[in-house]
Amino acid sequence: MSFESDIVKIVGKNNFSSDIADLLSYSRDSSPIRGYLPDCVVLPRTAFEVSEVLKLANKEGKKVVPRGGGTSPCGASIPLSDGCVIIDSVRLKGIQFNEEDMTASIKAGTTWAELIRYLKKFDVKPMFVGPHSGYSATIGGGCASSAIGYGSAKHGQIGDSIVTLEVVLPSGEIIYTGSAANPNAGKFGRYCNGPDLAGLFIGSHGIYGFITEVTLKVEPIPTYVDYFTFGFNHIKNSIDFIRELQKKTIPEHAVIYFDKNTIHKFGAEGSKSLVSIVIEEEDAEIGEAKSKLVEKLSKKYDAFYHNKCVSQSLWTKNLFDSIPSSGREGIWVQSCHRIPLSRLELSINKAFRFFNNKMKKYNLKIPLCMSATVVSGQNSNFVSTFLFKENDQNLNNKIFKIWDQWIDIILRENGGCPYWIGYKWTINLYKYLRKSYFDILWKLKKILDPNYIMYPNMILLRKD
Ligand SMILES: Cc1cc2nc3c(=O)[nH]c(=O)nc-3n(C[C@H](O)[C@H](O)[C@H](O)COP(=O)(O)OP(=O)(O)OC[C@H]3O[C@@H](n4cnc5c(N)ncnc54)[C@H](O)[C@@H]3O)c2cc1C
Repeated sequence: MSFESDIVKIVGKNNFSSDIADLLSYSRDSSPIRGYLPDCVVLPRTAFEVSEVLKLANKEGKKVVPRGGGTSPCGASIPLSDGCVIIDSVRLKGIQFNEEDMTASIKAGTTWAELIRYLKKFDVKPMFVGPHSGYSATIGGGCASSAIGYGSAKHGQIGDSIVTLEVVLPSGEIIYTGSAANPNAGKFGRYCNGPDLAGLFIGSHGIYGFITEVTLKVEPIPTYVDYFTFGFNHIKNSIDFIRELQKKTIPEHAVIYFDKNTIHKFGAEGSKSLVSIVIEEEDAEIGEAKSKLVEKLSKKYDAFYHNKCVSQSLWTKNLFDSIPSSGREGIWVQSCHRIPLSRLELSINKAFRFFNNKMKKYNLKIPLCMSATVVSGQNSNFVSTFLFKENDQNLNNKIFKIWDQWIDIILRENGGCPYWIGYKWTINLYKYLRKSYFDILWKLKKILDPNYIMYPNMILLRKD
């Protein structure tokens, strides 16, 4: 029996492909990085099928790459070596809403847009609402890459909403984290029954196992919602405004935009930075008090441009569409990373200097966008994105050089930390993270994945 016919036995022939057109598309994600061609693609429907595929891959010594929506902008769901099998989560669909415990158990291949649409029927929503790629990105992919996005000012990253996980280990064993470790308990608590095992898989990019189900906290759709967009003459003022706001009253969502393109797009000419805020409350009186505080603080920091429409459209009809729609102008080169608000101004000034120098040096005329999404407390996700047409090899080479240099500055000088990682960050993290950190990741890898089948060369670069 061949590996192929054994796999077909598990998932059925319609859920297996070694067609060259399919393999080519799975060698790419939404980054400009080209991966190796996989050997085949498998689409299991249940955790049991994932488990059977992994057992077989172990037996045959096949490498496995987990794939969600393939929206990684950094080469994170493509084979980084040859001979790989892609396990695509697209058929792992389904949501179970638990009204009493206010949780939803979601199969890994469900997209954020599907989740929101489903929960709306019950008048609830996820606390962390999803990344900007939520039309295509999956809950499993978000968990494996620690997604940040809509709702992060109050609710942080996806991990902060995670209650329990169902994961298939590289050996094929299916495990449950938190309260779900006790079959008599249910899925209601993350930090119980001993150490937090969910944390091992959040942000792991699949190196320790394939996530098949994520249980998230949900909340009622609030009755009070208010929107603000403020323009500032000084970047410092906008950051100080957000810092004080985060201390005094937590908005649901807050983003600062720094680049001329976005400021122009939002019609806020003359501003050096633009802040978009969403306030949500179940109780209108509390909501109104919060809105008043936002207005008061905006005056204290000399906000001069006021508009409700921009943040309203980003939060409602353009949810999940504001960034993907800009992709029509070219492919993104992004460098999202965590940085505390206390170091954001320095990082932005450095980014302006760096990118302006490079644009001049290489005579580049490509759009550059810069923003920071506020992440619970005094944290942020700073992203610089530039868009370029991929069909010019000469331009590609220059862009890749700039990308590497900027990532190096983030890690070496700014002390920034990536959360979605992929190939680009993997090769750079090795230069800067403590050896003891990688040592422990390797020890865990050897225990959980002794045959080194799960996503080789992702986060853990093999030295032999
Ligand atoms: C336009 C655009 C906007 C974006 N905006 C944001 C944003 O606001 N916030 C943000 O955080 N990211 C953003 N991203 C990056 C990306 O969309 C997110 O990282 C997203 O969460 C990835 O989900 P995915 O389903 O596409 O996963 P993939 O890209 O398919 O995979 C991501 C990683 O997770 C692993 N993986 C996938 N599924 C599983 C699974 N079931 N089990 C184990 N491992 C798995 C993959 O191997 C890979 O390493 C954006 C990307 C684009 C293109």
